Amino acid sequence: MRWALIGASTIASQFMCAAFRAAGHQIVTVVSGSADLAARFAEANAIPACTTDLAAALADPGVAAVYISSTNEKHHAQALAAIAAGKHVLCEKPLGLTLAEAQQMVAAADAAGVVFATNHHLRCSGSHRAVRDLVASGRIGRVLSLRIFHAVHLPVTLQGWRINDAGAGGGVIPDITVHNADVARFLLGEDPQTVVAQSATSGMGQGVEDSAMSVWSMPSGAMVFAHESFTHPFAGSGLEVHGTEGSIFARGVMTQRPLGEVELVTAGGRTSVPFASDDLYTVAVRQFARAVAGQGQPAATGHDGIASLAVALAVRQAARTGTRQTVQYGATA
Ligand code: NDP
Repeated sequence: MRWALIGASTIASQFMCAAFRAAGHQIVTVVSGSADLAARFAEANAIPACTTDLAAALADPGVAAVYISSTNEKHHAQALAAIAAGKHVLCEKPLGLTLAEAQQMVAAADAAGVVFATNHHLRCSGSHRAVRDLVASGRIGRVLSLRIFHAVHLPVTLQGWRINDAGAGGGVIPDITVHNADVARFLLGEDPQTVVAQSATSGMGQGVEDSAMSVWSMPSGAMVFAHESFTHPFAGSGLEVHGTEGSIFARGVMTQRPLGEVELVTAGGRTSVPFASDDLYTVAVRQFARAVAGQGQPAATGHDGIASLAVALAVRQAARTGTRQTVQYGATA
């Protein structure tokens, strides 16, 4: 498959270029708002062409799909343009700044008959898939609670729009809470119904929150606790799923690489759980390509992207108002 990259971003250079190539695909061009950045990005990542003209890139009949990894406020218009040009779309999270934007993107893709996916990488991780399989198999009985620890220290190189530009979609809630919402939905197979939350600026955020804690109620009665931050250098990451017959401890797994460890604890003792160590983003690209070929769905669909955004928006509203919020998924989630 031949791809156009929309956005000369860090995630594209650090992970996605390698993932497309590992999956046997080609990157034919990169589109950026800056000609200089586009040229530097193309050279650094061995991409044969670059442009600031999105329409021209989308007019290339040789481009089958686009990967959108610009800042968050641009995703909506860029996705709609790509869909209108008949391209399949792999879009970064959050899909948009509002639920209406995300819904419009997914509805347009559905109407155009193109594949639309959200780049929620964690559900492509062997560790998360192993945890999900344990939960689904009933090994821990009825799920009582899920705790997600995702408080990291944002690298200096990423301390730009994420920490100071609400208009670009900055803040830890659109950045990390969306991932945690997708993790909870993926692991438990149900959608959060209501949320309570608090957020804070704890040293890094300027006009946007850099930390959040929230509790979500699931339809089954299970409770989810989620902690996200940009300001925690030594917290580590992980998740725990606790059930009536056992607990799963997954340490170091809220990460972009296939790292960490998973342990199952039951009345029978403690067991280390093996899991696949495939690159998360390559798994996503391969599954996207299979969906384009008519075989199944992307790892995270557009509807998954709508749902994760809906949860994040509810968390932000709950934190701002100090009130419990019902998650508004809209008609298409
Ligand atoms: P970056 O800040 O690296 O890039 C975002 C945009 O900023 C680029 O598209 C580019 O604009 C511009 N830009 C980048 N570098 C420079 C520079 N040196 N000088 C001036 N402008 C620059 O963003 P990230 O890669 O961190 O995130 C991009 C998107 O990917 C976001 O939506 C984010 O939420 C998502 N993301 C997803 C991850 C995942 O694992 N799924 C992980 C990390 C990010 P232009 O578009 O004009 O080229």
